[in-house]
Amino acid sequence: MSKIMGKDLFIKETKQSLEKMLVTLRKNASLEGEEAAAIRKQFFQMEREALRYGFKELSHLSRVSKSVFICDMNKYLLPQYLEGVLLSLIAEMMTLVEHPNEIKHRLPKVHDESIISLLRSFNVESGTKTVLIIDSDLLFLNKVSKVLSEAGFHVEKANRGRDGLEKIAKYCPDCIVINTVMTDIDGHAFIAELQKETCYSFVPIIVISNNQKLSGKLEGAKLGADDFLTKPFVMDELLIRLHRLIERNERIKKQTLLDELTGLYTRKYFLEKLNYYFQDSNESEFNHSVIIFDLDYFKQVNDRFGHAMGDKVLVTFANFISSHIRESDVFARYGGEEFILLFPRTTSEQALVRLDSIREKFSKININVGQETINQTFSGGIASKDDMNIERPEDLIKFADIALYEAKNSGRNQLLIYKNYMKSKKRSLKILIADDDAFIRKVLENELAEDGWELLFACDGKEALESAKENSPQLILLDVWMPIFNGYEILEKLRSDIQFKQTAVIMLTGNNSEKDVANALNMGADDYITKPVSMDELKARIKRLLRYQYQR
Ligand code: GH3
Ligand code: MG
Ligand code: MG
Repeated sequence: MSKIMGKDLFIKETKQSLEKMLVTLRKNASLEGEEAAAIRKQFFQMEREALRYGFKELSHLSRVSKSVFICDMNKYLLPQYLEGVLLSLIAEMMTLVEHPNEIKHRLPKVHDESIISLLRSFNVESGTKTVLIIDSDLLFLNKVSKVLSEAGFHVEKANRGRDGLEKIAKYCPDCIVINTVMTDIDGHAFIAELQKETCYSFVPIIVISNNQKLSGKLEGAKLGADDFLTKPFVMDELLIRLHRLIERNERIKKQTLLDELTGLYTRKYFLEKLNYYFQDSNESEFNHSVIIFDLDYFKQVNDRFGHAMGDKVLVTFANFISSHIRESDVFARYGGEEFILLFPRTTSEQALVRLDSIREKFSKININVGQETINQTFSGGIASKDDMNIERPEDLIKFADIALYEAKNSGRNQLLIYKNYMKSKKRSLKILIADDDAFIRKVLENELAEDGWELLFACDGKEALESAKENSPQLILLDVWMPIFNGYEILEKLRSDIQFKQTAVIMLTGNNSEKDVANALNMGADDYITKPVSMDELKARIKRLLRYQYQR
């Protein structure tokens, strides 16, 4: 008897404190300090007591509410963006204590258990499917995800739209179940946004609506949602619809986004995914690596064993790589016997470590081609976003391709990082700095050393000529006025010598000296720069002149 009394009292007190919290929350723009700490403490007590009186769900919600507060420099505060979440949590708790039956009624139930086993075998046979549920109703979220997990799905939950978007990118769900009433994003705008991206436009969407009104359903249909359910519904219905939509979608995906021979993604899908990683603000701050592969001497396989056997080798390669990478990596057939891989949030060094052992293992596999077995190798070029400060995804592909070309040139059966190759290439490019002013030589040395060129120095005309003859630099920075020979005299000698036919020359002229500039260009200088030297300008000019020597 005393326990019942206790329980009633608990409900009454809980109701009162929730009401008080609502008043406080509505009165204040943001909560912090003692006020926030006090409310957090109430949730803490509520969590324990609710459990004691058998209110499991209330206890759960109190725990979640408690975690909405963050601790900053020993003070609790409620971040503004979580206020809406807290309000809906409190509303939920109110309903729980006031009308416990309504909540029970709202939560979907499974009537026919056989549907669970049907879906479990579907998930086993065709690979575990991922479902993302987005709903601000936490009890609903937990209940549905529990049932879906029982049915063998991998379930991801989000109670806010923004979390939902992040999880879509991260987990690439096979179906999204979404309640368009969200605290932070307009649900309809959310769906419209998804439809714009081709790689997501194939993901089926089931809209859950809170009210029975037809207009909501019509709006959802206009936006391209694939199916609808209105709360309350029975779980069986959601499961049947999920099954039907995912199955249908798998068929469509196979026909349009997947390469027929290898079953990998197509180039088009890959490029969209790559674009996404560059544009999405949550992703653009991370480093991503792109790797292009090309099978070595593959023509010979076709020539010796026929095209069908060639195809078999391609499929073996595709399956091998696929089975050694993660779900979140994007692997595609780029064309012919070239393949392309995106490692999100990965540096080129990490990519190399992950792929090099895969390369080695693959090269040891004996592949049956008719009567014989062969060992196939491949080469790869790796480029990553941060290495090059790349803004455009197509540049990443271009650089990975250059690295691949180099991997081929320097022996095949290897992976090469574009950045490393560039460094070694640059080091072998020599720049001769000929200037009698020691200060200028020092400044240029400091500035250009960072870029990894091999630098040579000369402090008069004679030294400049001797060093040029001995070292064959690719570029000479030539001061106009120097002892022994001046810049013009040196230029004249250089231009009449076949050894320096390809050597680029930048003249360092006095400030505003138009005559110097005209003279220099007439005599065959490739470019000029006026003193005092702007380093950025000089570097840009050097890069422009040497661009063909360090890029394909
Ligand atoms: P390298 O090491 O320089 O890459 O030599 P390679 O012989 O592999 O030269 P290349 O990459 O230029 O050759 C590509 C060959 O791939 C030519 C083409 O016959 C073959 N190929 C392209 N697509 C397919 C395909 O779908 N099936 C088969 N069997 N062969 C293909
Ligand atoms: Mg090729
Ligand atoms: Mg090849």
